[in-house]
Amino acid sequence: MIPASFGYRAPKSLEETLDLLHQHPGEARVLAGGQSLIPLMKLRLAQPKVLVDLQHVPGLSYLREEEGFLKVGAFTRVGTLLEDPLVQARYPMLAEAGKVIADPLVRNLGTVGGNLCHGDPGNDLPACWIAAGGEMVITSARGPRTVAASEFYRDTFVTAVGPEEVLTEARLPMARAGHGAAYLKLQRPGGDYSVAGVAASLTLDPKGRVARSGIGLTAVGPTALPAPRAAASLVGHPPDAVHLAEAGKLASQEAVPVPDLRGEVEYKRAVVEVLTEQVLERAADRAGGRA
Ligand SMILES: Cc1cc2nc3c(=O)[nH]c(=O)nc-3n(C[C@H](O)[C@H](O)[C@H](O)COP(=O)(O)OP(=O)(O)OC[C@H]3O[C@@H](n4cnc5c(N)ncnc54)[C@H](O)[C@@H]3O)c2cc1C
Repeated sequence: MIPASFGYRAPKSLEETLDLLHQHPGEARVLAGGQSLIPLMKLRLAQPKVLVDLQHVPGLSYLREEEGFLKVGAFTRVGTLLEDPLVQARYPMLAEAGKVIADPLVRNLGTVGGNLCHGDPGNDLPACWIAAGGEMVITSARGPRTVAASEFYRDTFVTAVGPEEVLTEARLPMARAGHGAAYLKLQRPGGDYSVAGVAASLTLDPKGRVARSGIGLTAVGPTALPAPRAAASLVGHPPDAVHLAEAGKLASQEAVPVPDLRGEVEYKRAVVEVLTEQVLERAADRAGGRA
């Protein structure tokens, strides 16, 4: 449980951070809250030569609505999602997801950016970003670029962030009238990772029919997964019991779980089906569609 030896750098600006990553191509890793990276290093599953700690880099911790987005700075602590009044009032899906991540100690150190970048299919925030049609702002010495959350996850522990890049901001479309989103996960007791989790985001038209829908799945594939067929099946229809049940069935077919200590494949598919129906119901209530 002792990591291999490594260098440690604590830059004071984003520019210095990017410069350090450039000086150690492929050998440096960004350190955020350390709640996933440090355990991996102790197990020697990760052996970076240099850790570049983000904690003294200013301007990476914020939550604000701007230019049609909720913008979340990458170093914003997961615990902030549970307390921030804007999140509580307008983005309850994020508070729901934050609340079921680990325990207060981990949440107070773990960051939104770390949760999104780690690339463990069991991380809870990626499904929320996928469901809501969010975007990731990735910055290198050449400047920022934007990647859709649905294209951010390449494989288990592999994301679109390159070795000389940093995730600086994660954005969600700003909540508008007729919009509702929610997150539900089934977990074993004790703040465990999910058996499965589902995020749903719905926008209703003035007649109460679904105009846009997104569904993201946690822990039932090599990465967080979108469930595009389930989401598309709702569009143009009212979010009633028949259509939510159909979406649940489709989402369970789109999941690609593997058997492990948390359950067999068929059990996990059944969990996805039930959670999808329930989370869509909650999202539809929030969107005002099931009054
Ligand atoms: C006991 C325990 C239980 C947990 N349970 C859950 C759970 O139920 N659900 C859940 O979602 N998570 C869970 N976690 C993980 C926790 O949420 C982590 O904090 C999170 O996954 C990583 O965030 P971090 O800030 O600690 O990142 P770190 O551990 O510092 O980094 C994780 C990875 O992301 C990279 N990274 C971090 N920030 C950036 C950035 N801005 N740009 C580019 N790359 C970056 C790092 O280089 C590293 O590869 C648990 C952790 C523990 C220890």
